[in-house]
Formats: sequence, structure tokens, C-alpha cells
Amino acid sequence: MIDFHCHLDLFANPQAAVSEVEAAGIYLLSVTTTPKAYAGTKALSASSKRIRTALGLHPQLVRDRHGEVDLFCELVGGTSYVGEVGLDGSSDHAGSLPLQREVLSRILRSCAASGGKIMSLHSRHASGELLELLQRHPGSGIPVFHWFSGPLGDLGRAVEMGAWFSVGLPMLQSERAGALIARIPRDRLLTETDAPFASTRDGLYPTSALRTTMAEIARHWKCDADEVRRGLLRNLTRLAEEKRKGAIIKRTIASRREATSLS
Ligand code: MN
Repeated sequence: MIDFHCHLDLFANPQAAVSEVEAAGIYLLSVTTTPKAYAGTKALSASSKRIRTALGLHPQLVRDRHGEVDLFCELVGGTSYVGEVGLDGSSDHAGSLPLQREVLSRILRSCAASGGKIMSLHSRHASGELLELLQRHPGSGIPVFHWFSGPLGDLGRAVEMGAWFSVGLPMLQSERAGALIARIPRDRLLTETDAPFASTRDGLYPTSALRTTMAEIARHWKCDADEVRRGLLRNLTRLAEEKRKGAIIKRTIASRREATSLS
């Protein structure tokens, strides 16, 4: 199983979560919310072969922690994975959007300068703006939209750009689940928990939520859960291959049109 967006360091008992992930044989991307948390979070899974740690600066923390972007730029050369980064335009955070844009631009530039990264992206109420920013930094790497909740038009543009998606239970249980899943290419989908913020109520690592997530995907794809499991593992392998080949963000028709009208 795959959990491509999980906050291992924020569990009440991170070591117990790591033990459960290990025992269940889960391939997991351990995202961080500040660059200062990166080293400690990486140490949590030092002996694990299936856990990778991503360097992050959560957009909801940018107002208070934007100064840590310097540390982000210092550390980025040492990892292939970045997250959680992105933009948040919801009412509580819209005020810091100008600062969020500035910080994310620096993050994307630093990713591009160190060869491109696999990036787990937060896009709540800001998917359109995030797409624009990604288009300006095509060498920043491979975007993986986590818990996409924006307009279907933006989802289409993200697909056109070559983006990937990690989906979890809250997304699959939403009213729009069918419409969203139908538009995500089957070979660019991964599963996630976003635990401990989602998928768990008891504060323990939610292995069963991943199983339910795969069963839900199987229902949408009209196939059995085992086929989903094999497909997702193939996807994970291909994502790493794309990264090695140096995949870049494709320009969408909309932005090409925009560029033409500006020239
Ligand atoms: Mn998250």
C-alpha cells in the first residue's frame, strides 16, 4: 500500500506510527510543515526502506515562519522530495497570499536549481493560482496535488501539465468524488492519508483507511481492489522513473494562448 502524504512527526506517538507503517509494508512519503522539522522527522524513519521524508513549508504557516525559507533553500539539495508546500486561499489564510506566493516562488526556484523534486502540493482555494506559479517554474519537478478540492477545470489543466494526484478518504467520500476520480488518469494516481489531520480518529496510524481508500477507488474504476493495489505500485515505480528522467511541467493550452496574446 501507498501513503503519499502523511505527517509522521505530528502523531502523538510518532515511533508507534512508524512501527505500524513498517509492519504493514506501506510505502510512505513523510511530509513536514517546516524546514526546522525536517532533520528530526527524517531521523524517525532512518532505518526504514519504504519511508521517504519530504522537506516542507506549509502555506498555512508561511505568515509566521516565512523566515525559514532560507533554511529550506539550504536543505533542498539533500532530498528528492518536497512537501508540504503550496498555496492556501481559504478565509483564514488569504491575507498571507502575497507572502505565500513570494515564498513558494523561492521554493520552486530552489527546486529547479537543484534538479527538480517530487512535490506534494497543498492547493486549497488556490488551485488556479498554484497552476500559474508552477507554469513559471517548469523545471521545479513533478507536482503531486494532495487532496485536490478545486474546480474541475483546474483539475483538467493540472492533468494537462503532467501533474499527479494523491487521494484519500475525505476526497473519495465527497460529493464530487466520482467526477474527480473520472478525470484523474489512472496511471497518475496515488493514495494518501494526510494523517493525523485526516483518516484517523484515535490518533493511531490509519492502515485500515488506506484499505478503504483502495476499495473506494476500485468501486470507481469498476475493478477489484487487488488490481488497484498493483496499479498504484506500478505508478509509484513510474513516478520515480519520471523523476530520474528529469520530467518537466508541460505548458497548458490556456497558458500558451496567454503567452501568444502577450507577445
Ligand atoms: Mn497535510
